[in-house]
Amino acid sequence: GLSSESYCRQHEITVNGDDVPSPFTSFESTGFPAEILREVHNAGFSAPTPIQAQTWPVALQSRDIVAIAKTGSGKTLGYLIPGFIHLKRCRNNPQLGPTVLVLSPTRELATQIQVEAVKFSKSSRIACTCLYGGAPKGPQLRDLERGVDIVVATPGRLNDILEMRKISLRQVSYLVLDEADRMLDMGFEPQIRKIVQEIPPRRQTLMYTATWPKEVRKIAADLLVNPVQVNIGSIDE
Ligand code: ADP
Ligand code: MG
Repeated sequence: GLSSESYCRQHEITVNGDDVPSPFTSFESTGFPAEILREVHNAGFSAPTPIQAQTWPVALQSRDIVAIAKTGSGKTLGYLIPGFIHLKRCRNNPQLGPTVLVLSPTRELATQIQVEAVKFSKSSRIACTCLYGGAPKGPQLRDLERGVDIVVATPGRLNDILEMRKISLRQVSYLVLDEADRMLDMGFEPQIRKIVQEIPPRRQTLMYTATWPKEVRKIAADLLVNPVQVNIGSIDE
């Protein structure tokens, strides 16, 4: 409608895709479960950020997404909250491996995502584990053995643990590639492709990137199915 058009214009949101739903311009309009709305309220957030407003309704339709937005725009909760809701719908057995997988370029970023996931899923009994290099594998493997719903991982370490056959990705049905452009810049493309080969094709895939060069467009074309593309601000190629 007109109000969502003016919201998009005001926040420099552009979308590409079929029948893209209107943005959620307030938390009340999201229909999120009460325990999630409570955490958002406790965090002191007054409204969704533009990337959240436009990607949440698309993600809740279980559609693939490419989101192009700069750092600091609230992408983490943009994919985590629909991930929590996806988890509730799946009701998989955490002992058999994660349902939600987030790939992130660095240990620092993976840790920040993990902290945000734990904070906002406190009341939802979701088990979230972080896997990254430069640290012993033992504690990470023990966390996996206890059962996991969400794994946040750097591609290198996850691929090592996959090769050791200490994790199964057969239950993953919600895959996030965060900071895809940086992961490719760091040379993680072969690991990403090996990881994705272990995930069943019937999945939802969400890709977040700050820039949109041809390498990122190529991997998006290979890994996503009929994605809705959401841009915030001008596209920096
Ligand atoms: P990005 O991944 O796009 O760089 P983050 O997800 O790290 O951004 O979010 C940046 C900061 O904004 C974080 O501190 C996060 O908690 C906060 N944030 C997320 N969503 C909102 C919101 N709706 N309102 C206010 N702050 C938010
Ligand atoms: Mg981020």
